[in-house]
Amino acid sequence: MQTPPWRQALARAFTDLPGLLAYLEIDPSTLADTSRADRQFRLRVPREFAALMRKGDPDDPLLRQVMPDGRETTPTPGFDADPVGDRLAEIRPGLLQKYHGRALIITTGACAVHCRYCFRRHYPHTGGTAAPRQWRDILDHLRADPSIEEVILSGGDPLMVSDQKLGAWLEQLQELPRLKRLRLHTRLPVVLPQRITPELTGLLQACRFSTVTVIHANHPNELSPAVADGCRRLREAGVSLLNQSVLLKGVNDNCETLARLSKRLLEIGVMPYYLHLLDRVAGAAHFDLDEPAALRLQRQLLAELPGYLTPKMVREITGEGSKTPIHTAID
Ligand SMILES: *Cc1c(COP(=O)(O)O)cnc(C)c1O
Ligand code: SF4
Repeated sequence: MQTPPWRQALARAFTDLPGLLAYLEIDPSTLADTSRADRQFRLRVPREFAALMRKGDPDDPLLRQVMPDGRETTPTPGFDADPVGDRLAEIRPGLLQKYHGRALIITTGACAVHCRYCFRRHYPHTGGTAAPRQWRDILDHLRADPSIEEVILSGGDPLMVSDQKLGAWLEQLQELPRLKRLRLHTRLPVVLPQRITPELTGLLQACRFSTVTVIHANHPNELSPAVADGCRRLREAGVSLLNQSVLLKGVNDNCETLARLSKRLLEIGVMPYYLHLLDRVAGAAHFDLDEPAALRLQRQLLAELPGYLTPKMVREITGEGSKTPIHTAID
């Protein structure tokens, strides 16, 4: 079988820092040592995403999201390997349920990009997908629990899986009579828009579910014309599009950037959904913004944007029955 172009693009991704820095015309000798951080969680950046970074700027907001940082290997109290209680929520191998009516499948550990702040950075980011036996066990569970109406395909990134395999999974899921909604949580429409193949949109269009795709962009510079085009094709296939972002110090922690992000998302047909406060995962403390600063930012955003362009600011707290909204203090 021929390798699809998106897989070829993936194979060309930067996986070494010197290569990425040379491409960006940044002198590595001006940067602190990052080799330990890189060994812990390997750099991975598709060329399409790197092309949106400013040349010669080590502080570029897209580069910061993917660039290993020496501070990652310094332990910080309160930042650990499983900050959101995923191990406790695993009701079957590869199936997480934390909230009423929706269950999340870890379809694969693989991602096209390695985001330094990721709460799953301590997971094995291997290429393997859920094994057939594991998948059957997940289907049995979904069949036995009538309260689950929505399945979320997550990972890693569910669009790292081939169209063939996705198609087979969708077929099996559609046989579960109580399932009504299908959701994909994926960063590929942003970092590798050629992943939105006609085969993929065809699969999504043909399935009986109400289908939602939650993309993940943190900065307006990520939303190139190619990304806009991929989103348009998803919408044409009847998919509703939402965006979730993570509030990241040095990347998008100001009102101007977040307002531009929301406006640009609307232009490409994507509604802002969540703005997550950082999950306190070991290695990501340097991205953390304290809660008072986040609240100030939220007030500024509310004063700046229409309500429908203001994402819900939330934190994930282990054991809670939903993401927890961070409320603007009335003072
Ligand atoms: C975040 C999350 C969801 C989705 O929550 P929504 O508020 O519906 O977007 C579902 N399951 C798990 C395990 C999650 O972590
Ligand atoms: S794409 Fe998502 S799951 Fe993958 S590394 Fe980035 S934030 Fe984590």
